[in-house]
Amino acid sequence: MINSIELRQKFLDFFRSKEHKIIASASLIPENDPTVLFTTAGMHPLVPYLLGEKHPEGNRLASVQKCVRMQDIDEVGDNRHETFFEMMGNWSFGDYFKKEAIEWSWEFLTSKEYLGLDPKKLAVSVFAGNENSPRDEESAIIWKSLGMPDERIAYLPKEKNWWGPAGQTGPCGPDTEMFYWKGESEFPPGDSNPGNDEEKWLEIWNDVFMQYNKKTDGIYTPLKQINVDTGMGLERTLVSLNGYADVFQIDTFWPLIQKIEELSGREYVESAETTRSMRIVADHLRTAAMIMGDDKGIAPSNVDQGYVVRRLIRRAVRHGRVLGIKENFCSQIAEEVINIFKEVYPEVSRNREFVLTEIAQEESKFKNTIEQGLKEFEKLINGFRLAFEKTGTQIREISGKQAFKLYDTYGFPLEMTKELAIENGLSVDADGFNEAFAKHQELSRAGAEQKFKGGLADQGEMSVKYHTATHLMHAALRHVLGHHVEQRGSNITSERLRFDFSHPEKMTEEQKKEVEDLVNYAIGNNYPVSYEEMTVSEAKKKGAMGLFEDKYGAKVKVYSVGDPDAAADAHENSLAFSREICGGPHVEHTGILGKFKIIKEEAVSSGIRRIKAMLE
Ligand code: ATP
Ligand code: MG
Repeated sequence: MINSIELRQKFLDFFRSKEHKIIASASLIPENDPTVLFTTAGMHPLVPYLLGEKHPEGNRLASVQKCVRMQDIDEVGDNRHETFFEMMGNWSFGDYFKKEAIEWSWEFLTSKEYLGLDPKKLAVSVFAGNENSPRDEESAIIWKSLGMPDERIAYLPKEKNWWGPAGQTGPCGPDTEMFYWKGESEFPPGDSNPGNDEEKWLEIWNDVFMQYNKKTDGIYTPLKQINVDTGMGLERTLVSLNGYADVFQIDTFWPLIQKIEELSGREYVESAETTRSMRIVADHLRTAAMIMGDDKGIAPSNVDQGYVVRRLIRRAVRHGRVLGIKENFCSQIAEEVINIFKEVYPEVSRNREFVLTEIAQEESKFKNTIEQGLKEFEKLINGFRLAFEKTGTQIREISGKQAFKLYDTYGFPLEMTKELAIENGLSVDADGFNEAFAKHQELSRAGAEQKFKGGLADQGEMSVKYHTATHLMHAALRHVLGHHVEQRGSNITSERLRFDFSHPEKMTEEQKKEVEDLVNYAIGNNYPVSYEEMTVSEAKKKGAMGLFEDKYGAKVKVYSVGDPDAAADAHENSLAFSREICGGPHVEHTGILGKFKIIKEEAVSSGIRRIKAMLE
């Protein structure tokens, strides 16, 4: 038996022995990336380096990254998908390529010193080739040289074994995936592989080889800097190592299932429905607690990440009800989650009170209306039945208006109404819901769905400008409001910047004006923007702002606006305006930013304010 603590350690030790630098998990909430709500893979925080920026720790890295994939929510309940999971990964930025990557994957998986998995239970897939790029024989040959039999190598199409580009253009390439046998027999039969026997093989690791650049004209050219990006699922690997039936039996899940068994008086394996509901409750509350515990002050709300948290908690409450749990239970599960992760991710225990309070509040709020909401839903269905009896017409769809009423009056997220509808053989008019939603609220968040897709950050020209403007504003806020101001979150689109920071009260009109004037002063001064690499303690000494945890690895990039050697302070006549630990990229001179304007200043949660600002 091997547990999650040992596995993380083994993975990092192995890649350290292959001269990789270990970096800590980045936040679950991406900094400065408007394309996604959550970090969906280990590569996500490393995008600038995959695109060619130099990483201060060098060109070989490894990490264990916290990930959230809301696009997998409907899969949760099966034996292998979760909305929150941990991804172990190793990277080469223009350094080693297929041979080393595959050989090391194999060594880590099979050597007795590391995982010691039986090679007879492993299989792989490689890219089959298409009109744009050839079959990945190179990878197949490397696998064969390691002893992988021909019949265990599946050649699969682009949908399976190709990564990227995330947008229309950019780096992309084939991948090779590794699978562990999950069939009933001890060993896979003769010709079984992930291509012809998909369900019986569990994908545990994916090595992506970024070797092409897709251009606007659809042409694929060789990429200048070729990269390796791998991702290994911690939970699935533990399943393979310990012979478990599903990911919920590993040590970062099982205590939650046990607690749910205790609260409901039922057994995990009682029936397929019970198993599924218990998995959903455990998964969703684990994810909600990890998001809220991530130092960004994300609480349940109606927008963005907060809305995801709300959906997760509410769905868990409903499945808790299905399991017959009467009392309020969510914070008890969250407490277990914090116990499980407090050593590995200390931020969850730092935010313990916040997580437990917010989760309990959200549960109470929803419990006040869920019973009535479910009654309303029953009424709807009965109405459909009556209509059928009277007129013979079968209604199969819940209208947008009806779904919106369930949302607005009873707090049912659309996804929950959909789920209830499916259970009753019905569907929901989602477009109609969105229309009703947009009509009732000026803030239509329909576009939020788009953000669930993973991918490369929007590194467009405007985003880079907003990124630099964010540094200027951060410095100005500290000058105007005081040094208690700390960044709590940042999100940039090509149209605006959004910045969350600690500050106890509403900003006055004068303060906002002062911040605007200071930022515009810095823009008018056309300061140069430059960076230096240094250790965290050197950065501290130079007065750089930013997170001083181990988060960025031992060496960091420090961006200065103004003279890199002068003391940084955001006031008129200062030689350096801002200094901040940051991965970049930034503009070269502040003069091109245009005119800075604060659009909105509001509360996000207690003690945290949010500013939206624009460049004109
Ligand atoms: P699948 O097809 O099984 O959903 P994927 O192709 O989406 O997996 P990748 O994007 O290649 O997976 O991610 C790398 C690794 O992360 C996978 O090999 C797997 O071990 C793990 N992984 C991916 N999604 C999940 C998830 N929802 N829950 C748990 N582990 C996951
Ligand atoms: Mg997937």
